[in-house]
Amino acid sequence: MNTRILLAFLIPALALAQRPAPASGIDKAAMNTTVDPCTDFYQYACGTWNAGHPLPADRSRFGRFNELQDHNERISLDILQGAAAKQDRAGLEQTIGDFYASCMNTDAIAKKGVEPLKPELDRIAAMKDMSGIAAEMARLQRIGVGVLFAFGAQPDPRDSNRTIAGLRPGGLSLPDRDYYLKTDAKSLETRQHYLQHMKNMFQLAGDKPQAASLKATMVMEFETTLAKHSLDRVAMRDPNKTYNMKPRGFLAEKYAGFPWEAYFTAVGAPPFETLNVAYPDGLNNLDTELGAQPIDTWQAYFTYHLLHASADELAQPIADEDFDFWQRYLAGVKEPRPRNVRCVAATDRALGDLLGQKYIQLAFGADAKAQITTLVEGLERAMGDDINALTWMTPDTKAAAIVKLKAITNNVGYPRKWRDYSKVTIAADDYFGNTERASEAMNQQRIRKIGQPTDKTEWTMTPPTVNAFYSPQSNSINFPAGILQLPFFDPRRDMATNYGGVGAVIGHEMTHGFDDQGRKYDGDGNLRDWWTKDDGAEFEKRVSCVADEYSGFTSVDDVKLNGRLTLGENTADNGGLRVAYMAMQEALKSTPAEKLDGFTPEQRFFLGFAQVWCENMSPQEARQRAMTDPHSPGRFRVNGTLQNMPEFQKAYACKPDAPMVRQNACRVW
Ligand SMILES: [Zn+2]
Repeated sequence: MNTRILLAFLIPALALAQRPAPASGIDKAAMNTTVDPCTDFYQYACGTWNAGHPLPADRSRFGRFNELQDHNERISLDILQGAAAKQDRAGLEQTIGDFYASCMNTDAIAKKGVEPLKPELDRIAAMKDMSGIAAEMARLQRIGVGVLFAFGAQPDPRDSNRTIAGLRPGGLSLPDRDYYLKTDAKSLETRQHYLQHMKNMFQLAGDKPQAASLKATMVMEFETTLAKHSLDRVAMRDPNKTYNMKPRGFLAEKYAGFPWEAYFTAVGAPPFETLNVAYPDGLNNLDTELGAQPIDTWQAYFTYHLLHASADELAQPIADEDFDFWQRYLAGVKEPRPRNVRCVAATDRALGDLLGQKYIQLAFGADAKAQITTLVEGLERAMGDDINALTWMTPDTKAAAIVKLKAITNNVGYPRKWRDYSKVTIAADDYFGNTERASEAMNQQRIRKIGQPTDKTEWTMTPPTVNAFYSPQSNSINFPAGILQLPFFDPRRDMATNYGGVGAVIGHEMTHGFDDQGRKYDGDGNLRDWWTKDDGAEFEKRVSCVADEYSGFTSVDDVKLNGRLTLGENTADNGGLRVAYMAMQEALKSTPAEKLDGFTPEQRFFLGFAQVWCENMSPQEARQRAMTDPHSPGRFRVNGTLQNMPEFQKAYACKPDAPMVRQNACRVW
């Protein structure tokens, strides 16, 4: 829908729902107990939930994650409606209240039509040559419209304490380069729909049908050229491949047709001497195919990206057309989410740390923070024991791994420092302008970090987000308050179920520090090989087992998962669940291992893990994710992980030839 490039994804919003928690914390009503847990554990744990929750018309995917997300959205909605209703709002409440009010002000939005785009469209129309193109490109990137490539600040991969300039390929609209290059029937159909959609958008912006049609074709050709020069997603996951430090003058020397110095000034970059060019070959077409494009092709390309990025902030016909292609056709969503919920999401994207401060007050207490911190410490001890007990790793590499493990910083609930929005002007009747100004301020805040010491406390998610992340360069695990709730965690419910829920999330993030990407960084967050050659080879052998396993899973129709694209996530599940299990076993030493609701603690642990992943997905979404999402769908995260675990087979007394028992089980950590 809205593709402005902002730091935050997902969504937020009410006070802790009073959900009935049975003694075990297991949702028995979600289970399908007619299925043998040793045949298909995912169906056993989630079968009735999945059957009873057909996809809502406004979603392409709906699962337990989304239930929690909806719950968080209601909290945020209360906050925003409350702020917007105040007569003399000031400070933080003025900012978020006015932003939300401007998004809900559909009369003002409708009245303006595409007029808010006029200054930008005029600038695009006035471009005459490469110097005009570079200036406008910088301008669009500043306001969060992704064109051609992404330029900005990043920690130096080899010296994480300093922030450098970085440039990486970008500028496509469709979800992946393969969408432009593949020639199967589905890909051809998608491109036909994309062409028609672009034509409709140009017409809505004022073009006659013939001109609109011509522009759509020009954009398609332009983006196809970009796609041909893009690195594929699997290669982009390798931090050594994308590490190419170059002197500043390198670009001007190699791609002389582009006015680099003027561009750097226009985009707001502070002085710098060197930069990391993630994929230098990706620029090879800049002086040739792209540079040779007539000016109207560039104009069409910029215009479409601007229209698409702004669609949700413009009058309804444009928003509808954008939804029709991107959501309805490409993702299988039948209708847009309610306006107020979209406005919550928009506020979270634009002003996430302001909304987050209010959210924390309502949804996250000091007791939850203390309990999670204790859990994290238990998991860290378990991971240390796990590393020390590995049979395939030599003592030197183990010692280095332990150093890295001990260096991990844990952040629970919300960032240590809140982002500053004081320079952003927000007005209750200017939704387009608000979004543009917030986006520009955030992007400028980021780009000005070039040349500065790296702020390793910075978060890339907002507090109400139902997600968590590991940052390789700050070597930190980060758990937004949004995920530290049911079904992941409840301080009042059974411990074993909590270990399977939030414990597995913690173990997962920790293991990211040691997956096929994370292992390439040391405890200080620097790209440095701390492995002996033999241990590195053993690791690669073990992750290949995981890659082959998941490449064998069919997501939808004839579309299989890409075991190499999803390798980091699957490795994190493979190790993370085991570490959570070990930590639970340790904790059980001081509590009686009694049955609750008929389940042993071990059985509750695996159910707690699996029930987080109950979900339904449209076939369109499944297809798109198989090509682009580094995460596997829920059912494979459950069955793919458990099939490798003897601990699971023991807990459910599975026979050695049961489907949930994988011959040649994969184990990395
Ligand atoms: Zn992950």
